Amino acid sequence: MAQLSPMMTQYLQIHEEVPDALLFFRLGDFYEMFFDDALKASRELEIALTGRDCGLEERAPMCGVPYHAAQNYITRLVEKGYKVAICEQMEDPKDAKGIVKRGIVRVISPGTISEGTLLESKKNNYLMSLYLENNRLGIASIDVSTGDFYVTEIEGKTPELWLSQLADEIGKMLPAEVILNPALFKQPQALELIEKKFGILASLYPEKYFNIKSCSERITTQFEVFSLGALDLEKRDHAIAAAGGLLGYIDETQRRALNHIKTIRYYKSRDFMVLDLSTRRNLELTETIRTLEKKGSLLWVLDKTVTAMGGRTLRRWLEAPLIKTANILERQGSVQEFYDHASRLPEFKTILTKVYDLERLCAKISFGTANPRDLLALKQSLGALPLINAFLASLKAEKLASLYDQDELLEDVWTLIEKAIDDNAPLVIKEGNVVKTGYNDEVDTYREASEKGQDWIRDLECREREKSGIKSLKIKYNRVFGYFLEVTKSYLDQVPEDYIRKQTLANAERYFTPELKAMENKILGAQEGLLRCETQVFQEIRETLLAEIQRIQKKATEVAELDAIYSLATVALQNHYVRPEISSEKSIDIKNGRHPVVEAFIGESHFIGNDCLLNDDDQQMMIITGPNMAGKSTFIRQVAVIVLMAQIGSFIPADAGTISVVDRIFTRVGASDDLASGQSTFMVEMTEVANILKNATDQSLVILDEIGRGTSTFDGISIAWAVVEHLWDKAAIGAKTLFATHYHELTELETLKPGIKNYSISLKETPDGVIFLRKIKPGSVDQSYGIEVAKLAGFPSPVTKRAQEILKHLEAGENTYRENLIVADPPILTERKASQLNFFEMAKGISPEEEAALGTIRDLNIDEMSPIEVMNVIYHLREKI
Ligand code: ADP
Repeated sequence: MAQLSPMMTQYLQIHEEVPDALLFFRLGDFYEMFFDDALKASRELEIALTGRDCGLEERAPMCGVPYHAAQNYITRLVEKGYKVAICEQMEDPKDAKGIVKRGIVRVISPGTISEGTLLESKKNNYLMSLYLENNRLGIASIDVSTGDFYVTEIEGKTPELWLSQLADEIGKMLPAEVILNPALFKQPQALELIEKKFGILASLYPEKYFNIKSCSERITTQFEVFSLGALDLEKRDHAIAAAGGLLGYIDETQRRALNHIKTIRYYKSRDFMVLDLSTRRNLELTETIRTLEKKGSLLWVLDKTVTAMGGRTLRRWLEAPLIKTANILERQGSVQEFYDHASRLPEFKTILTKVYDLERLCAKISFGTANPRDLLALKQSLGALPLINAFLASLKAEKLASLYDQDELLEDVWTLIEKAIDDNAPLVIKEGNVVKTGYNDEVDTYREASEKGQDWIRDLECREREKSGIKSLKIKYNRVFGYFLEVTKSYLDQVPEDYIRKQTLANAERYFTPELKAMENKILGAQEGLLRCETQVFQEIRETLLAEIQRIQKKATEVAELDAIYSLATVALQNHYVRPEISSEKSIDIKNGRHPVVEAFIGESHFIGNDCLLNDDDQQMMIITGPNMAGKSTFIRQVAVIVLMAQIGSFIPADAGTISVVDRIFTRVGASDDLASGQSTFMVEMTEVANILKNATDQSLVILDEIGRGTSTFDGISIAWAVVEHLWDKAAIGAKTLFATHYHELTELETLKPGIKNYSISLKETPDGVIFLRKIKPGSVDQSYGIEVAKLAGFPSPVTKRAQEILKHLEAGENTYRENLIVADPPILTERKASQLNFFEMAKGISPEEEAALGTIRDLNIDEMSPIEVMNVIYHLREKI
């Protein structure tokens, strides 16, 4: 076998630095990829795969993209979850002795993108680092594009215990990428959680990067403090390792200054309401379950923020509701201040529309990628600050004023940009006219020279026209020939003798004169000097701004909070929300509450409000029965959502409300198959219930929608019954609970356990069918009206008629059912209509063919079948019976 070529050797050596990335290897005007990278990239990007001699017998597979169009390709690869390492030529090939020096300048991955189309403006893009040691985890999350940096620690005696907390944290931050230390990487459940359940890119990061000493140093250097205590990180080794490792990783992949990362916030997850992943999903906080879109989520209703920063802040609030009454009251008070000035809110909105994304502008300044327009955007944003001051002053809103430091207007920064940068500056410095005249003497001198030269050229044009009598004579410029005189063919006989011919075109000739050439040199020299000076001045300004980043960031945070509060007030006004009373009375009392999202879809006037009372004594638990489609799920979710809204400081969709703070909200609603993790619907359901039983406290709010449905009726009722008892029992959990169920048997609990109350959602029967009244009332109902709902859903009438017949038959034979019902404690279940009857019970007295068909159904492995396969089986069975 022949030897690898020197360039290929260099390629492979560099690739070793980033084994898990696709290496974009700069060769002249292209980035080339080789071997496996080429195979992958050509497939993903749909670009041609070629080959290149590499010294081996076979040519190396190769594909490439032009360097000027690379951004688009990189974006596409990162979007698909790849890491891309950019390897540049580090010297001019002309100067190179032997092979050109090359090196990696940046690694781009989903968690380290700082600009471009991949970033959603109203959402943080986090990179998370996890450090595990002795069942304790450090978790650090950073958004490189904004500088937001958070760190915390969690602990659990067994992996199971910390894994569920880890899932909560990941669910909250939803990072785009995670790096793990080897100890955690070795835990298959952790990887499964991150990669399978969340679908996040996870990579191993070697242990040496988490070394506590070097991590501590990295952190103190980055944040310019003498001790970790100043950052609230003292003795928090796991947090230090995670945060330090993260900084190291960014340093290594970005290879550029991180001047905008100025603060790190240590938080305890218990300082906020804990929301597990299924609760976040079930309550559709930031995206809907079905479409995974913001539209239809709670955030969609609440987000009236004007700025991107405000949008991100509001989202963070929603992801982490407060649990300290004082904090909630403070935010609520701020919302109230805006709320009280309804007529002035449009004015505030107008001011905010002038504010750009200051946080991401700071990142650009820090990375040295801010362009002239970015600085103008910064100036315009800062220009809004005095307006915000004036607005707040005129409101006389003390709470708001305290959120916002009125003495800090960053006037110096504004003035610098105002003085230095031209208001019509272009996007790129190269185009010139960036620095304002009067700011820098050198720039002025060059510019004057250049402008004088241009005037001179214009004069010359006039003079030459007059002299020669050629009316169409023009002096033009292009890059190849510089300045020249152009004469159209019809005037050629009038061309003066001293013109020197330079170029012939189809219908014109081009000339120059020694005088013109001499001036050209002066003009071009001046322009070159001007560009050089402008570039230098611009860079100096960026440097100056770099020193002010922390101040700008602080202001950005203040404006973002004001914006988020403005948003909550605006929604409250538009949708007629009220301010809830936050009480220590341990009671949730909502009058005429509404579901904010459902009402947004159907209109406030069409939504039927409902009361809800949950307290520690006579009504700790509501068991809600009622037919399908009555509104049970909507009701129980709306209570959870209202409590959550109250705890982020928002007003609530109700006529009045008293809310006692809850530590957690748990939900078990709907049937969500977790096919990715290979669990059946029933298993998922039971896992979620198990999680609730293990973690709920007497301070929690639990929402259960129909548990135990995925198994036989007896199993289901027994499980549901035992769960309710355990949740109710103050010696065990004693949580406030809403339970929507079809199992009418459970209503018996009201008589057995004080504090459990039955409710149902009313409807009216009419000759034409049922009408849903959607009003919740005390007492239970024992009819399911399933067939009525089927009718409404458009079942063909022979099928509903047949169903009615079967139902009558079953109701007549209810004894068979009751005899089989054996439940130890409580022993006796009340009379029931057979509307919930087990399907197989119904099938007594059927033909052998039907029996066989049922056997087939019983043996089906539905979890592993597609809907089409199921349909096929059913068609097949129907032919047999
Ligand atoms: P259930 O859980 O009892 O089967 P849902 O809560 O899913 O019923 O409600 C069914 C539909 O009824 C919802 O999609 C919603 O459009 C409507 N709905 C529910 N509650 C109300 C209400 N209080 N006012 C108006 N419409 C409602």
